Amino acid sequence: MKITAVNTYVLKSPLQTPFAFSQGWVRQRAAAIVEVVTDAGISGWGEALCVGMQPPEIAAATVESALAPVLLGADPREPEVLWHAMYNRTRDFGQKGAVISGISAVDIALWDLCGKARGEPVWRLLGGAFRRRVRAYATGFYRIQGQGEAARLAEEAVRHHESGLSLMKVKLGFGIADDLAVMAAIDRALQGRSVTLMIDTNHAYGEADAIRLGRALEPLSLRWYEEPVAPENIEGYCNVRRALAIPIAGGECDYTAFGFGRLAAARALDIAQPDIAAAGGFTACRHIAAICLAHGIQVNPHVWGAAIAQRASLHLIASLPLAHPSLFATEPILEYDSSDHPFRTALVDHPVQQKDGWVEIDDRPGLGIEVDRDALMALRA
Ligand code: CA
Repeated sequence: MKITAVNTYVLKSPLQTPFAFSQGWVRQRAAAIVEVVTDAGISGWGEALCVGMQPPEIAAATVESALAPVLLGADPREPEVLWHAMYNRTRDFGQKGAVISGISAVDIALWDLCGKARGEPVWRLLGGAFRRRVRAYATGFYRIQGQGEAARLAEEAVRHHESGLSLMKVKLGFGIADDLAVMAAIDRALQGRSVTLMIDTNHAYGEADAIRLGRALEPLSLRWYEEPVAPENIEGYCNVRRALAIPIAGGECDYTAFGFGRLAAARALDIAQPDIAAAGGFTACRHIAAICLAHGIQVNPHVWGAAIAQRASLHLIASLPLAHPSLFATEPILEYDSSDHPFRTALVDHPVQQKDGWVEIDDRPGLGIEVDRDALMALRA
């Protein structure tokens, strides 16, 4: 089997109501979709994550100009070999960011192809499923004004719970006083309901404020505190982690075995959150999972992409071993984005959908989805 074409599709959709996380206003949802075409009549699909303000054109240009020449004519059934070929070709100008997101999209497509070629789901090619369903957690709580939205966010928490979700991650990083008001309102609104909360500041603070916020919220028994400080500040992560009795999570702004190797060696994290559509695809996430396992760090993927990235993330979650196995172990959970995103559901025939707080992991070949080409062309920028 040989790769005959690598197609990219830049998708963009403006949001009716822009929303904020701590780093800025999100005005559109975007993705770079990759299709790897073969001479065997089958294609594989992948996606590069576009975080809040990231133009999808960067990853798409990487795929078209730097990666396609490596891939054309190659056998797609050797994703590990091709991953290293792509990484080594771009190492001097890549290593992180949108270049690795481009590699991620291609790698996801290659694994999808491998699965389709063998008639097996990707999770089986990865070594099998530790779990065939995963609990979903609500990610949301974005701001439409910025500050002073505690009452509205408390209502959102109740809505998530009534939709079946008992795990929720609250976006903070809008000033310590505002953050604490939001958490107090949410905690009050959820009294009498069995809900576990997490927080995510998207590295809004320095170490001192990050610790101050964490200390004030320790009584809430948070499952994790995500991105407390800037991703480059590994020592800061370690200081926050030592200071607080809350598991520290991070990694959505880090990449490959090289990035996560540094975080693991420094013991900067309790929970590593590579995004499969950013950190280097299935191949890099396998490397990352092995490193984390050896350092006592649980991998719990980040996912904020569209339909293909979500589906890929499910296969990855299925294949992840527990860093701390026990009879009543804490299992990885799926980030379930319910914010406005037109092509999370329109793009494929089987969009990820939670039911009673759970998402099933099926055994259709490859990623288990077919891309709707009409929807793809309609969403194309
Ligand atoms: Ca996050």
